Amino acid sequence: MKKYLFMALLILLLCIGCVDKRIHEEVEAFIGKQEQYVNEKNIIKYMDTISKEKPEYLAEKKSWIRDIQMNDINDYNLKIEDIEIFSKDEVRLKLKQSYFYEGKKYSVKIPLLLKKENGHWKDNDLIFDEISTTHFRIKYGEGLRKYAQAVANVCEIAYQNIWHRYGEKIKDTTIIKIYEDEEILRQSVKLSFKWQFAGWYEYPESIKTTKFEEETYRKILEHELVHKLTISKSNNNMPYWFTEGLAVYFANFPNEPKEHRKKSYYLNRYKDKRMDILKLEKANLEKMKDPKEISNYYDSAGMIVKFMIQKYGLQKVKDIVEALGEFPYQEGTGIEVDKESIKRFHKVFKKEFGISVNDLNEEWISYLNETE
Ligand SMILES: [Zn+2]
Repeated sequence: MKKYLFMALLILLLCIGCVDKRIHEEVEAFIGKQEQYVNEKNIIKYMDTISKEKPEYLAEKKSWIRDIQMNDINDYNLKIEDIEIFSKDEVRLKLKQSYFYEGKKYSVKIPLLLKKENGHWKDNDLIFDEISTTHFRIKYGEGLRKYAQAVANVCEIAYQNIWHRYGEKIKDTTIIKIYEDEEILRQSVKLSFKWQFAGWYEYPESIKTTKFEEETYRKILEHELVHKLTISKSNNNMPYWFTEGLAVYFANFPNEPKEHRKKSYYLNRYKDKRMDILKLEKANLEKMKDPKEISNYYDSAGMIVKFMIQKYGLQKVKDIVEALGEFPYQEGTGIEVDKESIKRFHKVFKKEFGISVNDLNEEWISYLNETE
């Protein structure tokens, strides 16, 4: 009897070994394919490797692969460092992702979840746990529970603040993802991005951030929630500078010393480098490297929105956002749709304000030259 038991156990162990070996092979083949499709810049085939379970993840990966297609990104490499088999339908990987962009090599380690859907392995996003509040689902990586809790403590306050400042509620549940560090965050958004950022949002994706303190989370969330509210209202038709200007006006300015919102402070800080609307329209924030140039972009955009609200009233500015929402939805990240959004903004602005964007720009320039 004992002998049979031993044999049965041995067969069982061998079978488990077989299954494990098969899963290893399948997973290695799957990762190899993903790597190949990225290098081929094949969006359709790459998107077919992504899980269909989560609409925000599908949108994020589509933006991510489009960025690779449009930029000089090559030698993308995925190296499996560890495979943990959870079940025959779920594995957890430790991957090393690396690539070259404009001759420079970047790499990062990512924990990836693969799940089988209809018999095929799919990339199911990084490995996240989750907690929820009334309006948010907070996803966080391993060891980041206390950061998720800090986000949970302030996200509803941020939600209320933006609702009251802008005067409208943010629709639907918002997903927030907390990444291990700023490099994983950057590489999860756009491989071509030139600088690391604290928070990110593109319509209709999740809000992404990394490790911060509670009070910083509240400020980041307020900024990103203004994006969610206004980008969805405008049907993703706002110029990049106007999107940032609204977020700076409704989120950053109220969180900074009052002094920073003054014309004298702004003029003194940026002097002859300050930006007007035409300069903001030509600039690409995502390709900037100099921190002063970046803050100049944000502050100039915020000051122009402040000027518009002071001169024409909050409702008029909100009317522009609404009117942009009459145009068809544009698929793409803010920078991808910027050219068309600028055109639409010029049309709508003339209709709502009775003057052209160029006239507004002249008004802004002469306002800066007036003595207070
Ligand atoms: Zn922003």
